Amino acid sequence: MARYTGPSCKLCRREGKKLFLKGDRCLTDKCAVVRRSTVPGQHGAGRKTVKEYGLQFREKQTAKRYYGVQEKQFKKYYVKADKQEGIAGENLLSLVERRYDNVVYRMGLAASRKEARQLIRHGHFTLNGKKADIPSIIVRVGDVIALKEKSRSSEKFKILAEQMAAVIAPKWLDVDVAAMSAKVTAIPQRDDIDFPFEEQLIIELYSK
Ligand code: SF4
Repeated sequence: MARYTGPSCKLCRREGKKLFLKGDRCLTDKCAVVRRSTVPGQHGAGRKTVKEYGLQFREKQTAKRYYGVQEKQFKKYYVKADKQEGIAGENLLSLVERRYDNVVYRMGLAASRKEARQLIRHGHFTLNGKKADIPSIIVRVGDVIALKEKSRSSEKFKILAEQMAAVIAPKWLDVDVAAMSAKVTAIPQRDDIDFPFEEQLIIELYSK
């Protein structure tokens, strides 16, 4: 699966907002959006007028970059979301929010979604007790995500365990800090997602 390997901060600067792609650094004054708010590139500072298509396109890029999803896969999520009952934009966000890598991040066991993907690929987690190393899996209600027994003794996860205890998990996840696991108890709703997406713009773009 193709993935973006360039500088994360450049993506935030391009969208003009913090996408929280680098863990703790995002909360400090070192954040590139705080230090340099212009769009990257030679003409970045001069770009001002954004038309309807531009707004829709940027909102789609923001969501893709926030969740670390490539275009092809994101479009597939849209197609699926559009076929589901309810509001397509909310369905779309609910789907990406249920990605396995996002769940590990929400549990507090990774500093960013990027790190969560890496840890999953390295086989540190199980899904319903079985090995699962594909970050794009969409979890379902009742699924249990847990850190592998073997990984718990590593220094990295000892630090992450402390972090996990301090993280406020979303209400659709029942986190067990002692067991370093979480159970999906519900489908995430729009108000469970704290990023101010304007998801209807994404739907407008794809439905053209
Ligand atoms: Fe984005 Fe974080 Fe970099 Fe700030 S520090 S620009 S929020 S990735």
